[in-house]
Amino acid sequence: MATLEIECPTCGELLELSAEERREFEVGDLLVCSSCETEMEITVNGPGDEFELALVDYSQFVQCPSCGEDFEVSQDMLDSAPVIESVDGVSVSVVECPHCLARIELELEETGA
Ligand SMILES: [Zn+2]
Ligand SMILES: [Zn+2]
Repeated sequence: MATLEIECPTCGELLELSAEERREFEVGDLLVCSSCETEMEITVNGPGDEFELALVDYSQFVQCPSCGEDFEVSQDMLDSAPVIESVDGVSVSVVECPHCLARIELELEETGA
């Protein structure tokens, strides 16, 4: 039975997917690296070698405009952050810098139209 080998984009671990496993996956499903637990979203799942993944990157690094320190904003933080409308009508999430506790407005990335 054909086994597909996927290289984890984060740690380089080879992940093996059997044809059976692939059949259960749908585009949009998440695959988790067994080695580093990176989450990848399946973007293409066709016949043969037609299989593609995109890294799911929940976290982003933000530089605090107040103290200049970088800090990580995870999806969890964004989910629980209050969303306000800034002066120019853009929706922003308000997160707190862990270093100086300044409140920072993060512009939300629009998906779709
Ligand atoms: Zn990995
Ligand atoms: Zn700060």
